[in-house]
Amino acid sequence: MKIERLVRKEVRSLRAYEAKEIPCRVKLDANESPFDHQETLGKIKGIPTNRYPDPEGKALKREAARRWRLKQGQILLGNGSDELIYYLITTFGGPVIFPEPTFSMYGIIGKALGEEVTGVRLSRDMDLDLPRMEDAVRKHRPKLIFLSIPNNPTGNCFSSEKVLRITGMTKGIVVIDEAYQPFSSRRGYIPLLRDMENMVIMRTLSKIGFASLRTGFLIASEKIISEVNKVRLPFNVNSLSQRAACEAFRNWPVIMKEAEKIVRERDALFRELDSLEGVRAWPSEANFILFQVKDARRVWKALLKEGVLIRDMTGTFKDALRVTVGREEENRFFLDRLKKVLSRWSGSSRRGVSN
Ligand code: PMP
Repeated sequence: MKIERLVRKEVRSLRAYEAKEIPCRVKLDANESPFDHQETLGKIKGIPTNRYPDPEGKALKREAARRWRLKQGQILLGNGSDELIYYLITTFGGPVIFPEPTFSMYGIIGKALGEEVTGVRLSRDMDLDLPRMEDAVRKHRPKLIFLSIPNNPTGNCFSSEKVLRITGMTKGIVVIDEAYQPFSSRRGYIPLLRDMENMVIMRTLSKIGFASLRTGFLIASEKIISEVNKVRLPFNVNSLSQRAACEAFRNWPVIMKEAEKIVRERDALFRELDSLEGVRAWPSEANFILFQVKDARRVWKALLKEGVLIRDMTGTFKDALRVTVGREEENRFFLDRLKKVLSRWSGSSRRGVSN
């Protein structure tokens, strides 16, 4: 039986999101936090396993609303923000546009749902290319524009003037994906929601120590939230995640201290990385750094042999690798092994090898 024939055309041509589990000593590939909060789970008692979770996640919304100064009706919970991307595209449909390179799930989900998706190349300085974006908006009349700010994988924040210009000119929804906002020196877009009725914001706990629990937040006007809520699967966030996320909000100062630590480590790592011969690192406002190095694919493989797993971005961006900021000792280990790999190849042996 040819199963492929039964699969929808749009899905047949897709490639699954790559989330490989590769054994390694130091894991710096998935933009996770190096700080584990297992003790939070120990505090959680009395979850009946035979009952469905609170379908609305009321207690969690209360905590989130207090933290971000919102009404509870402005929040929709997701099983990670990935699920919220699904819901947004299911609710509004396409065309979907986003700058490129960016987080791959906007395109993957858009295509899976059979919508027209268009990537618009970033300018050389990794900012939004405003004329190109404006042209794309006029040409495609998108229902949804996804902007990851800070952007994954480039690490920078797009110019807010450009973001506001695009938000002002489109008749569609602009989704600001703030997965990495805790590491950014910028203020973020939540305070602007009041004046921008077509703006939607996504937040997640995945980058600040709770990736295994899959908890994301869609933040928008009550009107938008009530529309998206129509396509939400019942009980999409399990009881354990709801309770643990409430604890995370109560523990917010500790979590923010960890984010500050990561920012300090990131800046130190950036300086060292960028000072290495043959390496060009991109300044980052997130918990990862994109860098370019000759023979990047080969460097990636050699690092893995040394026990360090980072992200190979060569499929998206010439000679690019992305390293997540870990604990001090992990970053040190990564740098030492990178130096070792590069010094091994310095001189003639590195010449002539390409991707
Ligand atoms: N948005 C961006 C920009 C991301 O990089 C990621 C994770 N890689 C996500 C969303 C997904 O986050 P979550 O774990 O909440 O689904």
